[in-house]
Amino acid sequence: MAARDDPPNTARPADDRTWSAVRDQAADCRACPLWEPATQTVFGEGPVPAQVMLVGEQPGDREDDEGRPFVGPAGRVLDRALADLGLERSELYLTNAVKHFKFEQRGKRRIHQPPGAAEVKACHPWLESELALVRPELVVLLGASAAKSLLGSGFRVTQQHGVAVPSPHARLVTATIHPSAVLRARGDRDTAYAGMVADLRSSLELLA
Ligand code: SF4
Repeated sequence: MAARDDPPNTARPADDRTWSAVRDQAADCRACPLWEPATQTVFGEGPVPAQVMLVGEQPGDREDDEGRPFVGPAGRVLDRALADLGLERSELYLTNAVKHFKFEQRGKRRIHQPPGAAEVKACHPWLESELALVRPELVVLLGASAAKSLLGSGFRVTQQHGVAVPSPHARLVTATIHPSAVLRARGDRDTAYAGMVADLRSSLELLA
């Protein structure tokens, strides 16, 4: 993974210096109301450039605390899927369509709320910047919010998962369910998990 915590004078590829600058700008973003109750902006992480980018919905409770994407329960599902596919997490660029955690406070608990269309739209320029810097060959959109951010509101993950969709953002853009949907599929988690892994596998096979 890129050495993004190096001191400023350390020589690094130009792409990574630019990526760091964009990440630092995003840390101060106030373009929608989500920044205020959240702890911090959770920007993407991974190699720059990277062949494969995965885009989720937004950080969750744990990600908001740690400042890193996919480190909570859904991240563990994703890690399991990557291991099943023989992929190293450090080879991939992981990010979200929305960079702040949207939640409702209930007592001591912070309950996830899906981002609205206006929030997805407000955050879209950060995702565009990441795409321009990371220049992935394959982008896999995890869940409806990520798919809407890149492919518009007419895209249906339930109907168009696992197949390449024409997009100016990368040579290959595909979609599947978000790993959190596996956790929510109480009655049939195994089937949901298998479907997500199958979509990821078929997406990766398109790269060959
Ligand atoms: S969610 Fe995105 S657009 Fe809204 S404040 Fe955070 S970084 Fe900015």
